[in-house]
Amino acid sequence: MTQGNALEAVVRLLGEMPGIGGKTAQRLAYYVLAREHDYAFQLAAALRELKESLQWCRTCYNISATEQCDICGRPDREEQVVCVVEDAANLANIERSGGFRGYYHVLQGVLSPVNGIGPEDLRIGELFKRLEDETVQEVILATNPTVEGEATAMYLADMLANLPSAGKVKVTRIGVGIPIGASLDYCDEVTMAKAFENRRSLI
Ligand SMILES: [Zn+2]
Repeated sequence: MTQGNALEAVVRLLGEMPGIGGKTAQRLAYYVLAREHDYAFQLAAALRELKESLQWCRTCYNISATEQCDICGRPDREEQVVCVVEDAANLANIERSGGFRGYYHVLQGVLSPVNGIGPEDLRIGELFKRLEDETVQEVILATNPTVEGEATAMYLADMLANLPSAGKVKVTRIGVGIPIGASLDYCDEVTMAKAFENRRSLI
């Protein structure tokens, strides 16, 4: 690889990340190049370690060091309730609030036609599969109260209403408590607890 190609490769790879345009990717690549020698090597090693030590939980798609995450591995949770979240960060924040005792399902994103993200890009099929064994009696849709989060919740409610499990599984949406436009990441414990208390039935 020539020197020019190495720079181009870094810019291209960084530019594939969400929210990073070509200009930003170039600025970041120059930044790494300008930093001391160790920084780039530490970054490369940390990225490698990230991929080698962590994986998706095979049940809920949370981040996990093992095939099954800590939460799915705990028998003392309420197995009849599954809380659907956008990502592992939202899961961690709900978990910190201590107000939810069931299991989770991580979609790994939200529907976003603008960004070309459709249902097949999310862990939606895996969620439906989990409902087949009839243990789950309630699905709580806890996507963020943003436009995309709401649209994803509505899409899921629609789909869930047409599954064989429809009628047997209650579908609820987290409600009053979380302000519209806010992220679950910045939600305090009381607000989060309220949101779960005030969840509403969708089907
Ligand atoms: Zn899990």
